[in-house]
Amino acid sequence: MVNLTHHRLSLCSSCFLEWYHQRLKEVIKRNRMFLPREKLLVAVSGGKDSLALWWALVRLGYQTDGLFINLGIEKGNYSSLSLEKAGECASRLKRKLWVIDLKEETGKTLPELKRLTPRPICSLCGLVKRYYMNRYARAKGYKVILTGHNLDDEASFLLSNLLSWKLDYLSRQRPLRKERKGFVRKVSPLFVFTEKEDALYCLINKIDWIKEECPYTEGATSIFYKEILNEIEEKSPGTKLRFYQEFLHSLLPLLKESEPELSPCPLCGEYTSSQGLCAFCRVWRSS
Ligand code: SF4
Ligand code: ZN
Repeated sequence: MVNLTHHRLSLCSSCFLEWYHQRLKEVIKRNRMFLPREKLLVAVSGGKDSLALWWALVRLGYQTDGLFINLGIEKGNYSSLSLEKAGECASRLKRKLWVIDLKEETGKTLPELKRLTPRPICSLCGLVKRYYMNRYARAKGYKVILTGHNLDDEASFLLSNLLSWKLDYLSRQRPLRKERKGFVRKVSPLFVFTEKEDALYCLINKIDWIKEECPYTEGATSIFYKEILNEIEEKSPGTKLRFYQEFLHSLLPLLKESEPELSPCPLCGEYTSSQGLCAFCRVWRSS
């Protein structure tokens, strides 16, 4: 029996799967994320959230392929093990898994690229992932990119952004970011599920995911915020979901997303708001 305290629900395994699918379907529909005929590309990391998302979408009948970006993190064999899990899921789903190898693309792994820039490694990692997800999705004709950010991720970003009143970041924290010149639509429908619910979904479906954390997670402030939110949640179940959903309903509509002028990067051709080279080319071409 599965106890979902914050929903006041107790479900058996098969009802939990049904509940998960229905909830996902509803969130996609309510937020007008995509239509059944559109080609979808899920960014898969080998972790439980993105694999649960991929699996559930295929089970719901969406034409969904996966994209894995091999960052070349060798510590603890992290990138190779992650790729293995993504590959296993792809073969069970019988769906295409595209793999981009950062070392092949740029001559450098993520830890090697990090030596070229003062940016924190996780910020660089985000930049690399956003760049390739968009570039690849567009090149291969996918209409929508999906990411597996769950409720715990979204609530901790929100807390962190609120604590420093980063209005620009807050205005971009949307589960749906529409397509614009050079950018494919981006959606993250898992904000209604906690990481425990995603793990449960994987366990019931016997989906194996990478259990080790990325070696660079250590000391990340997002972990600290997640711990604080978990403490609050334990004393007051439902707070995390309320915190994020109220943000979406009450504050987000008041925040206007900035729309900077975009022009193509003279080196790679990707659209950027910078004058001159895009942020990605500025890092790796500086070597
Ligand atoms: Fe990338 Fe940082 Fe996450 Fe590791 S912890 S995968 S470096 S964002
Ligand atoms: Zn560029």
